[in-house]
Amino acid sequence: MANHRRIFILVGIAAACLFFTVIYLVSNHKTYSKQDAQIHRYFGGTNQAVSVYVISGKEKGPTLLVFAGIHGDESGGYLTAERYVDVKVKKGTIIVVPRLNLPAVSRGKRQGLGGDMNRLFHLPENSNSTPDSKVVDLAKYLIKNADYVLNLHQGEGFYSPQWISHKRNPYKWGQCNVIDAPIFDLPNGDKLELDNLAKRIAARSNSRIANKQFHFQVNNTNTASNKSLHKEQRRSLTYYALYQQHKTTLALESTKNCTLPQAISFLTIAMNSVIMEVGIQAENLPSEDPLVIGREMTGKRSQLF
Ligand SMILES: [Zn+2]
Repeated sequence: MANHRRIFILVGIAAACLFFTVIYLVSNHKTYSKQDAQIHRYFGGTNQAVSVYVISGKEKGPTLLVFAGIHGDESGGYLTAERYVDVKVKKGTIIVVPRLNLPAVSRGKRQGLGGDMNRLFHLPENSNSTPDSKVVDLAKYLIKNADYVLNLHQGEGFYSPQWISHKRNPYKWGQCNVIDAPIFDLPNGDKLELDNLAKRIAARSNSRIANKQFHFQVNNTNTASNKSLHKEQRRSLTYYALYQQHKTTLALESTKNCTLPQAISFLTIAMNSVIMEVGIQAENLPSEDPLVIGREMTGKRSQLF
C-alpha cells in the first residue's frame, strides 16, 4: 500500500506541475491570426517575448517544431526560421519559434539573461532557477506537442568526423546535422532511427549544393556516452527532447565561414529537406538561392529605414 500511495502522490505532483505550467503559459499568452498562421505571443511586453507561429494544413500529417535564436550570435539560424512563417502547408503542421532567446538575439550575443540557454534544459520545470526558466519551460511545453524537433544554429568552421585542419575537424560545428544518438530505443520496443534520418536529410541537401566543401555531414555527438566529445550537450534542447520526451530531434548547423545569404541558403536547403523527408507538404517553400536571399535581405532593410 505504501508504494501505491507514493506512486499516487508522485503522479499527483507531476499532474499539478503540468497544470500550473499550462495555466502560467496560458495566462501569459495572446493569439493572433495572419493568413494561414496562428501566432501565439508569450510574455508580451517583456524583453523575453516569444512568438510562436503555427501553420497547419487541411490534411493531417506530422508536426515539425522548429526553434532558432537560442544563441543570439547565430543570425543565419533565426533569419532562416523567419522565412517559414508565411509558408502555406497542405499536409501536416509546421510550428516555428524564430527567436526563442530574444535578449540574446537583441544583443547579438550567444548568452541570454540566464547564460547559455542551450545549457538549461536539464533543469526541472517550474524551478524558476534562472531568469530564462519561463522561456525554457515554454520550449518544453511546445516540444510535448511535436513529432519532430529542430534547433537551427550557425557554427564556426566545418564539422568533419576526421581531423583535416584547424577549420575542418570533429570539434567544429559548421555544415552538419547533429544527432545525440544514432538509434534511440523507446520503452515500447520501437526505435527512433536518428542516424538514418540525418543521413537521408544530408543526402537530399547535398544533391542541391554544388560546392562539396559545403556539403552537410552527420555529426553524432553520442551525448550520453562516457566517450562523448560533447557531454555539455546533456543540458541541451535536443538532448532533452530525445531523452525526456522521446521525440525525433536534430540540430541543423550552417557554417559561419561564408556570407550570411549563403548560410541562410544552406539552412533553408536543410529545412526544406527535412520537410520533404518527414512527409509534410507545403506550397511555397522559401527560395534556396543565395542571390534571391540577398535581395530579400536588402528589401527588408529598405523597409526598415
Ligand atoms: Zn548555436
